[in-house]
Amino acid sequence: MALIIDGRKISAQIKEECKEQVAAYQARGIEICLAVVQVGSDPASSVYVNNKKKACAYVGIRSLSYELDETVTEEELLQLVDRLNNDPAVNGILVQLPLPAHIDENKIIRAISPMKDVDGFHPYNVGALSIGLKGFVSCTPAGVIQLLKRSGIEIAGKNCVVIGRSNIVGKPMSMLLLRENGTVTVTHSRTKDLQEITSKADILIAALGKPKFITKEYVKEGAVVIDVGIHRNAENKLCGDVDFEDVKEKVSAITPVPGGVGVMTIAMLMCNCVASVEINERA
Ligand code: NAD
Repeated sequence: MALIIDGRKISAQIKEECKEQVAAYQARGIEICLAVVQVGSDPASSVYVNNKKKACAYVGIRSLSYELDETVTEEELLQLVDRLNNDPAVNGILVQLPLPAHIDENKIIRAISPMKDVDGFHPYNVGALSIGLKGFVSCTPAGVIQLLKRSGIEIAGKNCVVIGRSNIVGKPMSMLLLRENGTVTVTHSRTKDLQEITSKADILIAALGKPKFITKEYVKEGAVVIDVGIHRNAENKLCGDVDFEDVKEKVSAITPVPGGVGVMTIAMLMCNCVASVEINERA
């Protein structure tokens, strides 16, 4: 019987720990503040932004909300980022992605001070991760590591296969697994014979963005399967990149969707906000 890794329980534990750390800072007169910037009113982005603000309120982090019109220029957004970079009361800055097509996302990411980049997307933080320096780490892959560790799953020496090489999930995921001494293989859309590679994985991370793509043929007996994918099917129900029902009898542990990786992202954002107090000091 596979262990169903409970992301809800683990993310709740992490938020409680953050709440205690925030209270300890407050007792020393330090308030943590996250600036959340949203451009336009894409419903999915609004849900994410609201959930982030709710989590901040829960752990005791002040959130500042900037809701900009869809027509805001790149220059105006850069000016806001610059203001927030230079505001000593702001510890973290989060610009909700995606941005409208007339704004260069990479330019905005690079404009955020690396010391306030709680999403961990700035090239400085990506570089810091790859050479083992402290910095902000992308929240979703950081959440995967917590799910593994807090479920007692050893990473060191394990054959880890990551499916997907995006900047926000696949690449940082592979760097984090490497940091934990896993033996890491990164696969992607041009990989030849994916099944041959994934079926040797002790730990398989699916982040390819294809609903229920990973069936039992892709998975080794007794493997740990972490499903990063999130999709809504025709009946408006959530599912992942893994065919959970097909795979679950073959594995030793698996994350469900919903209730697995998805809920970890915001918890890890809260951790990054707590960490920002110390990281800001390095600016
Ligand atoms: P992406 O589209 O940017 O990247 C997908 C990656 O998968 C690419 O590198 C591509 O090469 C690879 N890929 C695509 N088809 C493949 C195939 N057939 N075989 C092997 N590799 C293949 O997606 P992303 O932003 O990395 O997100 C991946 C999934 O994770 C999506 O379902 C997304 O919704 C989800 N996601 C979840 C969270 C969360 O909080 N849980 C956060 C970010 C993304």
